[in-house]
Amino acid sequence: MNERRRSAELFARARQVIPGGVNSPVRSFAAVGGEPLFFARGAGSRIYDVDGNEYIDCVCSWGPLVLGHADPRVVERVRRVVEDGTTFGACVEAEVELAELLVAAVPGIEMVRLVSSGTEAVMSAIRLARAYTGRPDIIKFEGCYHGHSDGLLARAGSGVATLGLPDSPGVPKDFAAHTLVTPYNDLNGVRAIAERCRESIAAVIVEPIAGNMGVVPPAAGFLEGLRTITKEIGALLVFDEVISGFRVAWGGAQEMYGVTPDLTTLGKIIGGGFPVGAYGGRRDIMKMIAPSGPVYQAGTLSGNPVAVAAGLETLRILSEPGAYDYLARTGDALAKALGQAANQAGVPASINRVGSMLTLFFTPQQPRDYASAKTADPARYGDFFRGMLERGVYLPPSQFEAIFVSTAHTAEDVSQIAEAARAALTA
Ligand code: PMP
Repeated sequence: MNERRRSAELFARARQVIPGGVNSPVRSFAAVGGEPLFFARGAGSRIYDVDGNEYIDCVCSWGPLVLGHADPRVVERVRRVVEDGTTFGACVEAEVELAELLVAAVPGIEMVRLVSSGTEAVMSAIRLARAYTGRPDIIKFEGCYHGHSDGLLARAGSGVATLGLPDSPGVPKDFAAHTLVTPYNDLNGVRAIAERCRESIAAVIVEPIAGNMGVVPPAAGFLEGLRTITKEIGALLVFDEVISGFRVAWGGAQEMYGVTPDLTTLGKIIGGGFPVGAYGGRRDIMKMIAPSGPVYQAGTLSGNPVAVAAGLETLRILSEPGAYDYLARTGDALAKALGQAANQAGVPASINRVGSMLTLFFTPQQPRDYASAKTADPARYGDFFRGMLERGVYLPPSQFEAIFVSTAHTAEDVSQIAEAARAALTA
């Protein structure tokens, strides 16, 4: 076993002063066994823990690091910006540039507001949808995660699913009552709610490619169906593209599937590894945000110059020809390699992949919603996770999260991961 003494010491200290020793539950190894590692450094596809062990990183900070760690061009741009001051709490040129870029890139965005996290983006978009429609309720899908704001924790994915937590303790029942939950990829469920609550639905919010119950792509016609139903009942369609935005295509999942929502939320990649989120959409709706309209939303560090610079440089590099082809090809090679390794080991498994996001599920059934994702065997995943860690591959510490590939991952990395997977699954 790799030496992990320094990580163990830090975790012991952390547990005394930070709940569970982690600043976000998804970092815990509770679902896979063992203790979380502490990292000291990253470069390209590699990360190094505080004991000096090297790993191929298949988490990429849960998606933001689409260029891998510490891309020198991003580092250099950030360095230059930092020297001129880190925040003004006032307007800077770069935030206009990023907003213009987002408007040009994402089909559903005509105006956009920058915030500091995905949670904040979604929370604000929901407030706006309620204000615009004058209605109280939202429809969300089982196993989708939209950040940790009160109303959105109902049957949420990500850490909530991983840790098997009950719905939203601390959320008053009358808040939670405004969130109506139905299975992903099932239009009948949505239609049933839409008929029952025709006048009260403000918005349907969806991850157009689910990433928080493991990767689950939208079934044919699902997103189109949501577009039709929301139009029929006068509700807004909100695509939460915090993961899929700029990951699966330049214009996100909405470009890939050709369905344009009324509002879109973004995060992760657009901050290039710094805390940034955004929500945007139709101009008539976005104009309701203060100070142009009455819906209040604000942020001390919103549009922060350092974060915006990292995002702009990341997106500039990502806009170079071939980036998305490379990401998809590498994702495909990795998915095939993991599938083959499971097959050769005689382990029942299936893989879902869209572009450079994928999940190896330890179930023979191809997950298409939360219930089928939950047929995957978390104990087997835990064994696999620990086996891979021993062999120098850092996977998400949960069966119900996505593996992310970056432009820094090479064919050689994929071969090494495949070799480790063969060994881990047959051990
Ligand atoms: N929406 C989606 C789809 C997400 O995956 C996440 C985080 N993984 C969020 C919202 C919340 O973003 P943040 O963690 O930046 O608050």
